[in-house]
Amino acid sequence: MSLIVQKFGGTSMGSVERIQNVAKRVAKWHRAGHQVVVVPSATAGETNRLLGLASDLSERPDPRELDMLAATGEQASSALLAIALQAEGISARSYTGWQVPVKTDSAFTKARIKDIDGTRIKTDLDAGKVIIVTGFQGIDPEGHITTLGRGGSDTSAVAIAAAIGADQCLIFTDVDGVYTTDPRVVPDARRMSVISFEEMLEMASLGSKVLQIRAVEFAGKYKVPLRVLSSLTDPDIPVEEEIMSGTLITIEEDPSMEAAVVSGIAFSRDEAKITILGVPDRPGIAFGILGPIADANIDVDMIIQNQSVDGTTDFSFTVNRAGYKDAIDVINNVVLKNIDAREVITDDKVCKVSIVGIGMHSHAGVASKMFSTLAKEGVNIQMISTSEIKTSVLIEDKYMELAVRTLHQAFDLGEDTTTAE
Ligand code: ADP
Ligand code: ASP
Ligand code: MG
Repeated sequence: MSLIVQKFGGTSMGSVERIQNVAKRVAKWHRAGHQVVVVPSATAGETNRLLGLASDLSERPDPRELDMLAATGEQASSALLAIALQAEGISARSYTGWQVPVKTDSAFTKARIKDIDGTRIKTDLDAGKVIIVTGFQGIDPEGHITTLGRGGSDTSAVAIAAAIGADQCLIFTDVDGVYTTDPRVVPDARRMSVISFEEMLEMASLGSKVLQIRAVEFAGKYKVPLRVLSSLTDPDIPVEEEIMSGTLITIEEDPSMEAAVVSGIAFSRDEAKITILGVPDRPGIAFGILGPIADANIDVDMIIQNQSVDGTTDFSFTVNRAGYKDAIDVINNVVLKNIDAREVITDDKVCKVSIVGIGMHSHAGVASKMFSTLAKEGVNIQMISTSEIKTSVLIEDKYMELAVRTLHQAFDLGEDTTTAE
């Protein structure tokens, strides 16, 4: 008998029939003698629908109320799954985040999990029940409902797995594993049967939404064996077959696995750029601009400061689109009160495309191949950032799919052009 956490995403929970299929799949694991905790997302489109209603009512809805609202999506789907399991003859019980409790900080709409009390879950499991815990949500020290950021049910699942010492965390989704890039953008993308934890972390942080980055961080920190697999297969496939399907995220180094120079391409449409022209080139300017942005809890990603001309310089940085309006407000209301500047230019028609691979640092010329590939397609690079295992470029968003497709081809990542796996 093993203890398994299974997470099902929005599409997997997207209709009565799909919820019944999830129930059948979970029932199969339970009947095979495993203890199962299920973490469902809201049904497909429900979180967007709820947040859309809020934006219809207000340009800047109160984040606390947004969390109060968005958390209902997962509450509904969890209860529906419990009902579906009970209809399958399985004893099942659902809990919200605050009932467990899943304790978080108070950063509404992007809260971080601090602690999970697994006692209630374990007691119910030992009584033979399947336990369902809402994804995406928790409770802060003052008792307010919080949510964990878009895609946060992945993180709920891995954190619960860590808290109860689960043997496996299975992320069931609408693709059958982690691919070299989003298979919806590049149809000949290749599924990897194994991906290293570092590469998965980088892919997730650079925009591959197949796993939320914090889920990967938790899996690494608490050594939770993590697998991404399809929820759209026959729910009755044998447990032994299912457990070998999809993509395993390995924490252990596998010496037989040759480090791919480039193993995947990630992209994010969720970017916006702010440029402040003509700021004085003196110590403290970067802090003067980015300090207030950090104080407003807005994450900054890429940063460029140009060579100064006549004692002034230009300063550009990118933020997530969700923080874009707030960042512009901070620049206008705080930064420009203290720092002289000629002009502020804002642009949310940008995207970030990245190549990722742990073998990259030992191979010269990988970044330049990326730049020449984009140049051949006439794609202008606005900003660049690099680390040991990735190179990212910021480009105009209308070129995103073209850039991803041509880079995927240039680095031989396609289905039948590579032998590495
Ligand atoms: P869920 O609702 O199950 O959480 P998501 O939509 O959040 O599902 O994540 C799954 C989606 O991630 C896929 O449908 C796919 O379009 C996208 N995706 C992006 N990059 C990748 C990748 N490298 N491999 C697989 N899927 C990816
Ligand atoms: N329902 C939430 C969202 O749409 C959380 C999740 O699906 O993981 O972002
Ligand atoms: Mg998701």
